[in-house]
Amino acid sequence: MLVAQTSLGLRISLVSRWQKCELQRLRQEQLFICPVCQGPVQLRLGPIRKWHFAHKKERACQVDIEPESADHIRGKVLLFQWLAAQGLRIYLEPYLKRLNQRPDLLVKHEEQFYAIEYQASSLSEEQLRKRTFGYLNAGITPIWILAGKRLKRQGRSTFSFSRFEWLTARNYQHSDSPFLTYFSPLDKAFVILSQLTPYSITKATGHLRVHSLPSLTFQQVLQGPAIPPQRSSTVNPSWLSIKKHWRYQHPRNHLRIPYSIKQMFLNQHISPNLYPPEAGWPTDFHYLIETPTYLWQSWILFEFLQHQPIGKPFHFRLLSNAFKPMLTNQQLKQRVFPQVNGHYSAALLAYLDWLIKIELLSHVDQQVYVKNKEITIPLTLPHALKKDEQLMSTWHAYN
Ligand SMILES: [Zn+2]
Repeated sequence: MLVAQTSLGLRISLVSRWQKCELQRLRQEQLFICPVCQGPVQLRLGPIRKWHFAHKKERACQVDIEPESADHIRGKVLLFQWLAAQGLRIYLEPYLKRLNQRPDLLVKHEEQFYAIEYQASSLSEEQLRKRTFGYLNAGITPIWILAGKRLKRQGRSTFSFSRFEWLTARNYQHSDSPFLTYFSPLDKAFVILSQLTPYSITKATGHLRVHSLPSLTFQQVLQGPAIPPQRSSTVNPSWLSIKKHWRYQHPRNHLRIPYSIKQMFLNQHISPNLYPPEAGWPTDFHYLIETPTYLWQSWILFEFLQHQPIGKPFHFRLLSNAFKPMLTNQQLKQRVFPQVNGHYSAALLAYLDWLIKIELLSHVDQQVYVKNKEITIPLTLPHALKKDEQLMSTWHAYN
């Protein structure tokens, strides 16, 4: 905490210009209390951690706050200074009594309030959802900024995330595409991860860009700092290897595949490694479905399209009605983003568009399609891989 009260009711904010000796004297003369729970807090003036107030060990505050690391405190101070330099109205650690929440910073910008939560430690999904919806219901837009050290890079353009980090995504103002915002106090820079293309529950490819602190305005952090780069630049080089990874995965990984999906492959007399080459593509809005694309797209091919006679038109509603129960009974899962627009049916429509491009389907009328040919069921891995490669060149042609 950077804010406390003295026993005389004076508000002490550590982002003000204090000399250490002044604070030391104050500490000898006064008791400090937490503005939220009125419990005693200690002023810590150690050399390594930024100066801060902390609840005495045996006392917990009534606001659900995590213990603050040095990184958190440093980040909060830098973000405060960055916003202050832009002349914005900022409240440091305000206690919002009705919500029983205390954001790190509350900013007023163009008649709208934004709660900035700088997150260095892990939160449960429940906590994050509760806080996010608490703010949204009160008409406050939460801006979750993850500490830079949380960014876990797996390869040049692959990253891994925890579920709560996914929940902090927001979408570009002029595009549906989600992005994640990181801030590194050490580098004094924002890191924006855009073009997020998940290929498992926790892993995704993405486009990373570093913006040093003074080069970005608050407005830019709100809207997404730049037009998202072309998808092809991040997806294409690695996607074939991701398809390959699914093809070569060890059978013990199949334990995680939902029961009815496993049953579906059994009925086709193939292992999930031999999923149809037409499935497993990062089509638009696929991120709205958490189950990996090779599984939910295989489901569409096997459980829906295989039953459609060639040449007989069908309406999208038919697919949508068949897909919905799979979500309801959790055999396939949606990815929930409290601050990203989009309904999973957009992912289904975009996948049908891909099937049109590879000439499996044709468009007959608005949301009416017709199947042109049967889907591919590979008999061997080399056959599957060859077909993946052929389709990859079609993918390149369109993306
Ligand atoms: Zn307290």
